[in-house]
Amino acid sequence: MQQGSSDSTNEHLTSKNRNKYILGMAYFYVLLFIGLIGYMCYFMMYQSNEYLNSTYNKRLDKLSESVTRGSILASDGSTLADTTVNRDKSVTRNYPYKNQFAQVVGYSTRGQTGIEAITNYTLLNTSEDTWSKIKKQIFDEPIYGNSVVTTLNPKIQKIVYDAMGDKKGACVVMEPSTGRILAMVSKPDYNPNKINQIYDELVSDNKNSNLVNRATRGQYSPGSTFKIVTLLEYIKENPDTYEDFSYNCTGSITYEGKTVKCSHGAHGVVNLKQAFAKSCNGAFITMGLSLNMRSFRKTAKTLLFNDSIPFEISSKQSSFDLTSKSSDWDIMQTVFGQGKTLVTPLHNALILSAIANGGVLMKPYVVESIQSPSGKEVDKVLPETYKTLMSPKEAEILKEYMVYCVNRGTGKVVKTKKYQAAAKTGSAETKSTSEANAWFVSFAPADEAKVVVSVVLEEAGAGGENAGPIAKKVFDALLVD
Ligand SMILES: [Zn+2]
Repeated sequence: MQQGSSDSTNEHLTSKNRNKYILGMAYFYVLLFIGLIGYMCYFMMYQSNEYLNSTYNKRLDKLSESVTRGSILASDGSTLADTTVNRDKSVTRNYPYKNQFAQVVGYSTRGQTGIEAITNYTLLNTSEDTWSKIKKQIFDEPIYGNSVVTTLNPKIQKIVYDAMGDKKGACVVMEPSTGRILAMVSKPDYNPNKINQIYDELVSDNKNSNLVNRATRGQYSPGSTFKIVTLLEYIKENPDTYEDFSYNCTGSITYEGKTVKCSHGAHGVVNLKQAFAKSCNGAFITMGLSLNMRSFRKTAKTLLFNDSIPFEISSKQSSFDLTSKSSDWDIMQTVFGQGKTLVTPLHNALILSAIANGGVLMKPYVVESIQSPSGKEVDKVLPETYKTLMSPKEAEILKEYMVYCVNRGTGKVVKTKKYQAAAKTGSAETKSTSEANAWFVSFAPADEAKVVVSVVLEEAGAGGENAGPIAKKVFDALLVD
């Protein structure tokens, strides 16, 4: 009885174990299956385009043999790049705007860059219907790939391109409410129609780096445009008392044996708003030395410093170097935009966009829609929220200070009765040259901003006088004419 009972218990246990085992295996396979499905979804959603667009993907080489590369169009429908098939069946890639869109549109015959790179698969894939494909094959006509319609506005691109003249630098024009990039100019440039002839020479020219898109990959010292970040941190750390700030500027500040000058002489007694609008280095250094470096680093990170920039076209990160171990001299330099901080013109445009958009950054984008070769829309990109960079209240305060900078400070070059702009100037000293890099970051109209302009001109001097007029021309074209 005892024995029997024990046997039956054992049997019961064994069968229980077996059931457990089977159940375990079932769970395992179900999880494996879910994992597989999950990965496939992830791949389709996020990585497939990357894979398909990869220059290592051999399938694209095959596609390019049967499909003629599609066109890249501007937002007004004009052609930024297209391909003609010559009599001998060879193909020529044409860029009607020549140098103007060089880096942002890119090239496709010596590897791919710019929009040519990010839409490589789309341009070589066709949504042409089967019947017309067959017809074209019978009559030996080229089958074109799909076209890409971009957000780029040729009128604005030309205004910026002309206004920058022969200065090196970059400019990004962006719509803060959507993230659409309206213009992206980088100088010096090149003529993409001649890329095969000039490529080797351009690649070896490290001094000018014409092939580099300085808007997304140019890392510049931010100069006083960085005072926006320092100001934000000061307001965050002193939410109830920041308006009580006062500083008596004598034209320079000395701390522990190191002296920093103000570029416009003595500012006298300034409150926080005046210190920002007049770009008083002494006031910002005084504020900066009071800041909590861990908190400052966190704020910089939230503003996308030391982080990847959410843009389809290859972009460099901006860097912010202060930590709780930084020396006072490093802090003094960094808070007014010198020191080791580096920022790209695109990144500055994103910070401004968030300020203009109540603290919310919309994901910047340059591809608006995909069209079949016959012009039918087959896909459309919709604006997408990327991240909240600051609270609506903080954005409102920064905006108010930037408006004051236009009305009563260094940003007066964009002051007009026709619209109210908000701006910050910067003149970033570089070690190698005597003239500073001129920065001007701005948006307009201050309330319900339609456009952000971020511009840097290398070795051009003061930001307001030299880079400011470019923003003014863009605002006039978009908001007045
Ligand atoms: Zn000062």
